[in-house]
Parts: sequence; C-alpha cells; structure tokens
Amino acid sequence: MRTPRFARALIAGCLALLAAGAPGGAQPTAAAPPPASAGPVDPTLLEDLVTANHVLARHGVLDAFGHVSVRHPSDPHHFLMSRSLAPALVATADILEYDLDGNAVDARGRASFLERFIHAEIYKARPDVNAVIHSHSPAVIPFGTTQTAMQPMFHISAFLSPRVPVFEIRKVAGMTDMLVSNAQIGKALAEALGPSSVVLMRGHGMAVVGPALPLTVFRAIYTEVNARLQTQAIEIGGPITFLVPEEAEKANKVLDQVHLRAWDLWKREETAKAGQ
Ligand SMILES: [Zn+2]
Repeated sequence: MRTPRFARALIAGCLALLAAGAPGGAQPTAAAPPPASAGPVDPTLLEDLVTANHVLARHGVLDAFGHVSVRHPSDPHHFLMSRSLAPALVATADILEYDLDGNAVDARGRASFLERFIHAEIYKARPDVNAVIHSHSPAVIPFGTTQTAMQPMFHISAFLSPRVPVFEIRKVAGMTDMLVSNAQIGKALAEALGPSSVVLMRGHGMAVVGPALPLTVFRAIYTEVNARLQTQAIEIGGPITFLVPEEAEKANKVLDQVHLRAWDLWKREETAKAGQ
C-alpha cells in the first residue's frame, strides 16, 4: 500500500526536525578548548589518592562505582580524580585534572565519571573542603530512604553530629536517573550538604567531605560503620542514646588528632597486599 502524501510530508517534517535537533535544544557549537593545567602535583599526593581508592574499595565503601577526589594543591579551582574506572583498579596514570565546571585538562580520549559535578560543586561551595568521596555504600542507603535520621552512635563517628542531612534529587530535578550528572544538580547537592561532613542522597548513596584526604577516607569508612551500628540498635529496639553535640564536639577534636593512625594502618595494608 502506498503511503498517502500527507503522511509522507509528516515523516519528512519529523526527519527534518530530528536533523536540526530537538526544538529548544542546544545548537551544536565548536568544542571549547580544555582548561590549562594548574601545574604538576607532588607524586605522594597522587599515590595517596590511588591508595584512597583501594582502601575504600577494600572496606566496601566503594565497589565498581563511586569516586574520590582531592583539590589541586596549587589551584583551588581545580581538582584531581580518576578517569571513569572501578576504584580498585585505579593507578596514578588514571588520575585526571579537572576545573570546577567538570572539564578535564588532558583527557586524551579517557572517559570521565558522569557524576564529577558532585566534586566540582562541593569544591565551589566549600573552600574548607580539600577531598570529596561519593559512594553507594550499602548500609547508609536506608537512612536516605526512610524518615530515620542518621546520627552519631559512638565517638568514632562524632563528625555525623547532630544528624546527617538528606538530598532529595526529585525536589530540584523532577524525575531523573538519580545521577548528579550536571552542575545544577551538583549545586543543589552542595546546598543540602551545607556545613556538614556527610550528605545522604535519597535512593542513591552519599557524599563525604573533609579538610584533607586521610580524614575524608576515615569519615567515609566510619559513616558506613555507623549506619550498620544504628541499624543494629534499631533492631534491638527502644530509644537510642546518640552522642549529643557537646560530646561530639569534644570527640571530634580527638579524631582530628588520631585519625592518621587509621590511615597509616590502611596504607600499610594496601602496600602489603601490593607486595604479595
Ligand atoms: Zn553515584
């Protein structure tokens, strides 16, 4: 059967529209040149970033997904993070430099994490933050999806005081694939984080921040531990006595001094594993 003339015209019109791009969509433009590098980085920092990836993978905070970054030591408007890769596989050659719009300096065909805007927008909003971790660590997920707030169960997780805020992506972006895949959603996530160390992401995971990489790794690992402990306490039943802000403040001062003991241990375990 022959296609009627009006139907042929309709199909031709649709094809023309497709070729021109969606109505109101961005017109193709020449690619902007990549940002200039902020300069070389101390190899020790790169090695620590690689170690952080491996430590977080071994502790089940990162799995095939999730990422960890550090702010560039020479330029607060740049940060360093692996190319899109499972954290346990990251090596120094995989570390890329980004500006705070999520543009890679020297990608050379290497793919970037879709959710690099989590890092870029938190670095923009929080000048005190020098490391960011995004994970889907499993024990925290229920606290993002229920009405039960995550609160500090013990002195080691005092940085969660008084409670962990929750980011609701639906409020800012409607129905999404749940990923923080652009600057607008990243900015809203940074706002939900506010001055806290951790923000939960409903139906997704969490973002953890800190003034340096070792303390941020420490916080990510113990946020997952706190989530397990709080779930156990809920199962036992009855009211839970969390750390109050005054206790948390005192405990945090100690953690700021002693967390490097944990970092040194975790680093040594990674080195021993690599030597096997
Ligand atoms: Zn994610």
